[in-house]
Parts: sequence; structure tokens; C-alpha cells
Amino acid sequence: MQSDAHRVVVVGGGFGGLFAARTLRRAPVQVTLVDRLNHHLFQPLLYQVATGILSEGEIAPPIRNVLRRQRNLEVELAEVQEFDLERRSVTAARPDGRRFRIPYDSLIVAAGAGQSYFGHDEFSRWAPGMKTINDALELRGRILGAFEMAELEPDAGKRREWLTFAVVGGGPTGVEIAGQIAELSRKVLNDDFREIDPASARVMLFDGGEKVLASFGDRLSDKAARGLERLGVEQHMSSIVTDIDRTGVVVKSGGEEKRFPARTKVWAAGVQASPLARLLAEASGAETDRAGRIAVQSDCTIPSHPEVFAIGDMMSLDGLPGVAEVAMQQGIHASSTIKRRLKGRETSGFRYRDLGSMATISKFRAVVSFKGIRLSGFLGWCAWLFVHLAFLTGFKNRLTTVLGWTMAFIGNGRPERTFTVQQVLSRVAIEQAGGRPFLLSLSGEDDPTEGGEIPRE
Ligand SMILES: Cc1cc2nc3c(=O)[nH]c(=O)nc-3n(C[C@H](O)[C@H](O)[C@H](O)COP(=O)(O)OP(=O)(O)OC[C@H]3O[C@@H](n4cnc5c(N)ncnc54)[C@H](O)[C@@H]3O)c2cc1C
Repeated sequence: MQSDAHRVVVVGGGFGGLFAARTLRRAPVQVTLVDRLNHHLFQPLLYQVATGILSEGEIAPPIRNVLRRQRNLEVELAEVQEFDLERRSVTAARPDGRRFRIPYDSLIVAAGAGQSYFGHDEFSRWAPGMKTINDALELRGRILGAFEMAELEPDAGKRREWLTFAVVGGGPTGVEIAGQIAELSRKVLNDDFREIDPASARVMLFDGGEKVLASFGDRLSDKAARGLERLGVEQHMSSIVTDIDRTGVVVKSGGEEKRFPARTKVWAAGVQASPLARLLAEASGAETDRAGRIAVQSDCTIPSHPEVFAIGDMMSLDGLPGVAEVAMQQGIHASSTIKRRLKGRETSGFRYRDLGSMATISKFRAVVSFKGIRLSGFLGWCAWLFVHLAFLTGFKNRLTTVLGWTMAFIGNGRPERTFTVQQVLSRVAIEQAGGRPFLLSLSGEDDPTEGGEIPRE
């Protein structure tokens, strides 16, 4: 590639960034893709990592490896911290803290979104969200660890608390994780314990709206509700979670507040755009919405800067949903626009092709909404299987994922049930266990914190 080639900087190696980079594969440009993590993440399957169906590697391949054949591209492991739109450069920090500038001619920012606790960030201590591999592994440790703790707990009331799971948010993520925790307890762990009956676990799903999966329409939403009911998931609708602490959640419903004891909580309710959206908005005079997303123009560029694109979960445009398909199509659109400009051709606004939405309820059951077609049950699950395999990155990942799914769906197994001391020793898990790193106690090592041993009988 010539040194004077058009320089494209892509921020983020998620769905938007990856598709933007790939679209430039044969273009006469030099691409730099910057991500603060080494992997691309297939977020729709995070709940399967959290519940032991898949390993983290299957849904999070290294970005370098995914794009290794793209000769006009280099990958930088760094966190983007600032934009200088006048000088056309981004400032990023390497893992060792060294900061550096990357100049660009065109910039595509696809930094995604994080979890939002709607002004209650303190909830995150007790109820991790599900946005990253760390979150999924943390949740795996908490969910499987809760059964271990229940097995050790002599007090019946406390044992009940350990065997109670609260999921906040009745969208696809909340429904999928609640369904999987229920399946895990009813079908997978049956024979593993001696003191407890894992199938007696209580799984509760809370949502402020009237129905689960409200965006799928009444018919599919009702089917999903019935599917969850069959699994024994309690659905608490029109219920706003007002407080969360170590041992439970407080919920407001019909003007009354009620406390539900539950040791393990999952937050699946709400997103907040990457802080980079606000930085771009401040620098360009664009608006941001309540979720912190930057309002982009019809071609996904920001005001007065046709060379800067903001795409995917961090932008707002015509009420488009925060889904992978929007990010992928916008990635392709942004890079195609750059290519057309370089050829002196006309460009146009972004047009979204809605390819529908889907969510799994349990094994062999999913709901799918696609251009007015509504599928549910086994047929829906087949469509879900096909789409997820088609979009998983890398042939090897597809192969091992099919193996994981075969074990989980045909054989009721959970091949990935490992959780490590490192995971369980993370700040939140220690707090969940009442200040004691419980896996250390389980593994028989000395407990370095105050509080001593957890009773073993
Ligand atoms: C649990 C879950 C389930 C989902 N299920 C579905 C589903 O079933 N179907 C569907 O269509 N969508 C689903 N989604 C939504 C979908 O995953 C997102 O819409 C999509 O990932 C958005 O792509 P993106 O490129 O905008 O952001 P992301 O894919 O989030 O990528 C952002 C990238 O930017 C990087 N980054 C962030 N900040 C910086 C920085 N400062 N410097 C450098 N790099 C940075 C991140 O590391 C990341 O790699 C789900 C999301 C979640 C969390």
C-alpha cells in the first residue's frame, strides 16, 4: 500500500467496526482498527457463556486473527480517549498507558454501548449486567457458585436465598438468561448435589412493562410468556426494581413495595452509549439522547464533518433499534460511502433493511419475527439456529459451537461449567458472598479476609 493512501481509522471491532473494516478489504486505503480489547464479541450468545453452554473463545475470536488476511489493515490494541476533529486525529492509550495519536482522512466510530442502571450505578455491585466476556464469566461463577453455596448452607432460609435468582429486564437478554438458569436447575444439575435439590430453584423475572418481549408483538410475547411459565420462571410484570442489595431486590408494583430475597441477581435492563458518543457530540454540536447516543445525519456522519461516521449502538437515527444488524449494515454503508467518494461517485443516505428479531426461550423453543412472519416453538428455534451459525465469526468457532449445542440441547449437558478462583475473587463476587471469597474456602486454601471459614457441613 502506498504511504499516501487514504487513511481510514475504525474505532471498535464489534459488529459495526468489523463489517466496516471488511468492506474496505479491496479498497485503495490504509485501515487502522483500534479496539481496547483483543476480541470481537458475539454479544447475542453471551448468555450461553454465562450458563455453561459455550466457552468464551467460541463467541470472542481475536480481532487480529479474524482480519489476518486483510493486507491493507493493522490492528491497534488501545483505548480511544479523544478526538481532534480539526486536525483529524484520534488519541488513544495503549495498555501500558502510553498515549499516541492516529491521523485519519476518514473516521468510523463504532464503540457500542455499555450497561445502564438508570442512575443507580450502585446496583452493579449486586447485579452484574451482560455486556462483556468478563460479565458472562462473572455471572457463570455467580450462578453455578450459588448452587455450591446452597449445598454448603445449613440454614434453610439462607439456602433458599442462594437458590433464588432474580433477573431484571424482560427483553430478549432477560428472557434468555432466565430461561437458561431455569433449564440449568431443572435439567442439568439434577444429580450433582447431595444436600439440595437444584430443581427447586426459584427463578424470577422482573419488568416494568406489561409483557415480556413486548417489542415482538402480542402473539409472540404471549408464546414466550407461556414457554417461560412451563420452565417455572415466575414473571413479575409491571414491576419496577427500586433497590438491590446483597441478599435481595425491592420491587414496586401497584403502588406497593415488596422485598424478594435472592442472592444472585442479573441486570438485563437498559443500555448507555459509549462515552465517545458524547465526545463526538460536543466536538461537532450534535445532540445526544437520554441513552447518550449521538444523533447522526441520514448518512451516519456527524454535523459539519462528512469524513466522520458514528455507527451502531452509539448513534441514534430514525428510531433504529440497538441491534447487530443495524451496526453491520451501517458499517458496510460507511465504508461503501468512503469508497464511492474516492471514486468521485455520488453517495446516499443509510437505508436499513429490517431482517427481524429473535429470542430463545428454552432448548428447541424460540420466537422469531421477520417481515410480518412470526415463528415460534421448534420452527422458530431452527431459524434461530441457522441465523446464529451463519453470523458466528470463523469456521472453527461454528464447528465447536455446534458441538457445544449438541451436548447442551440433545444431551442436557453444559460443557463449560468451569469457574476460576480469579473470576470468583473479583470484587463483586466477594461482596455477593458477604465479604468472603467463597471459592477459596471451597478449595481449602486459607481465607485471607476477615470472616473466617464458611461452614462446610
Ligand atoms: C446480551 C446481549 C444480547 C444481544 N442479543 C442480540 C440479538 O439477539 N440480536 C441482535 O441483533 N442484537 C443483539 N444484541 C445487540 C448487539 O450485540 C449490538 O447491537 C451490537 O453489538 C452493536 O454493535 P456495535 O459495533 O455498535 O458495538 P459493539 O459490538 O458493542 O462493539 C463495540 C466495540 O468497541 C470497542 N470499544 C468501546 N469503547 C472503545 C474505546 N474507547 N476505544 C477502543 N475501543 C472501544 C469495544 O471493545 C467493542 O469491541 C445483544 C446485545 C447484548 C449485550
